Amino acid sequence: MRTPYTGPLPPPRIIPRNANTITGAIAALSKFLTAPPSTFLQNREGDPTSTVILSGAGISVASGLADYRGTNGTYRVNKTYRPIYYHEFLANHEARKRYWARSFLGWTNLHKAKPNVAHYAIKDLGQMGFIRNVITQNVDSFHSVAHPDLPTLELHGFLRALTCVTCHRDLPRDEFQESLARLNPAWAAFLTEAVASGALETENPDEKRARGMKTNPDGDVDLPGAPYQTFRYPPCPHCLGNPPISGDGIQTKVEIDQEGAWKSSSTAGILKPSVVMFGESIAPRVKEAAEHAIDASGRLLIVGTSLATYSAWRLARRAKERGMPIGILNLGGVRGEDAFFQDLSGVQEGEFGVRIEMGTDKILPGLVDELQRTGFSHKQRSDSSSAEERKTNRRIFKDMLS
Ligand SMILES: [Zn+2]
Repeated sequence: MRTPYTGPLPPPRIIPRNANTITGAIAALSKFLTAPPSTFLQNREGDPTSTVILSGAGISVASGLADYRGTNGTYRVNKTYRPIYYHEFLANHEARKRYWARSFLGWTNLHKAKPNVAHYAIKDLGQMGFIRNVITQNVDSFHSVAHPDLPTLELHGFLRALTCVTCHRDLPRDEFQESLARLNPAWAAFLTEAVASGALETENPDEKRARGMKTNPDGDVDLPGAPYQTFRYPPCPHCLGNPPISGDGIQTKVEIDQEGAWKSSSTAGILKPSVVMFGESIAPRVKEAAEHAIDASGRLLIVGTSLATYSAWRLARRAKERGMPIGILNLGGVRGEDAFFQDLSGVQEGEFGVRIEMGTDKILPGLVDELQRTGFSHKQRSDSSSAEERKTNRRIFKDMLS
């Protein structure tokens, strides 16, 4: 189950010690990626010379998206912000209005944001044959945009689509956003204004106010004459046209107002973002695919995440238990990280473990340059075979997720 984790995290011990400069950090990571498979590695399926990446919000910071956590491991975006829980979203029409009103405004920023140099460096590392799989906790789809040929498993789903909780069909977010604009003209006008003033580009409530946008203490936007309680959202178009029979044999109904907004007298057709919400469980097939990605690689590189969510931390523990060397590139402490490095000898230069406390966009592009410079760019087996393997990989993930 996905739950927010807010405990304080201790500052990291840098490994190896000279990885505290950019040059030292790149050299250590270069050793890490090019080392022969560890002799402690158990059940060598897949490609034990390859590395699997596990990424989190930190890698998207350079794209202008806020990290959930500051370097002290505390929520820093908005101290009073409380994420919506899955059960609340399902049960409560009012909670959904609030969620969609905020999300309606937030989508514009996400939609404009693009992958950054760190995502593209991972693409290069994939083409060079070092990385075979990426597991991400991010829901921004940047990995799959930056490296469509390198398989990405989205552990917590994605915001680019919605899923109907009744019939489980998907709907593109763009289409849904247009419906929200049509059903909420005052909000649509406000959004146009807020985009023009730049008020949405800051997370700072004072700056937001200075640019003409008022927020409540709990982070909700205050819209004169259009409180979020009046916000409207559409139903699943498929369930609207064909209301299904529920599991216990009862005919469901999907009712809409004159303009097509979902009415609370309905018993089906609620759309949710295609993300794993807090309090919601990850689908077993996604969990299994993530474990498979860990087991098919010889090393784990953790980038831009404090492993705050249990589902992500579990994968790192699995890698450790398999005898995989672990590297961490993250600003701020990482949950339980001492255990990942406790049996590490002080003389290694990065081949058995790396801990770097720097931004991903500062390190990964330099790492690609370094590997190219030192002639490691041809690690890749013959092009045709690895392209074929990549295709197969992609199919595996697609099948597991469809
Ligand atoms: Zn539906």
